[in-house]
Amino acid sequence: MKLLFATSNKNKLAEIQKMLPSEIELLSLEDINLKTDIPETSSTIEGNAKQKSNYIIEHFGIDCFADDTGLEVDALNGKPGVYSARYAGEEKSDYNNRQLLLKNLKGVLIRTARFKTVISLEFKGRNYLFEGIVEGTISEEERGEKGFGYDSIFIPNEYNLTFAELDLDIKNKISHRGRAFRKMIDFLSEQVKIG
Ligand code: IMP
Repeated sequence: MKLLFATSNKNKLAEIQKMLPSEIELLSLEDINLKTDIPETSSTIEGNAKQKSNYIIEHFGIDCFADDTGLEVDALNGKPGVYSARYAGEEKSDYNNRQLLLKNLKGVLIRTARFKTVISLEFKGRNYLFEGIVEGTISEEERGEKGFGYDSIFIPNEYNLTFAELDLDIKNKISHRGRAFRKMIDFLSEQVKIG
């Protein structure tokens, strides 16, 4: 059975390939020769994930899934949320996004936040959503060298280290994306068994 992951992120592809049952052959955007960006214009994380998976079904008719992630900070009323990748606007980069967030939280004592991933799966004519959340706090300054995005300023609740200080295996076990992916994989493994 073929299933396309609507991402051009090679790390994410390799990560999920390892977790999928062997009956599922994973395709990427490269395999369908899609070079343009899939629109992501929704005001919610769910909406963006759905928009991406719907685009593939409508244009290519292949069963697929897409993910979208946001960092919700309570003191900022849930921002940057769906706009996490573009938080610093024109100047957006992982570094600038993090620095702006630290600046906007300067002097703020309650620094609770969560990463949320939603995966939208188009499978045999139906749409399914899977959510993964990890709760934590935003650190006072950057810590750690690993990871990407907001990793060096996010401390998951179970640990005193940022995601950028934790081993990748541990991060994958507790992370938003790991949790959402495992829910989808459990569902697909069940479907493969049913046939
Ligand atoms: P995307 O939906 O995976 O592209 O993620 C949106 C934004 O959230 C990215 O630009 C990253 O900055 C951030 N992000 C997503 N996943 C993670 C993560 O695991 N750690 C840190 N930042 C992340």
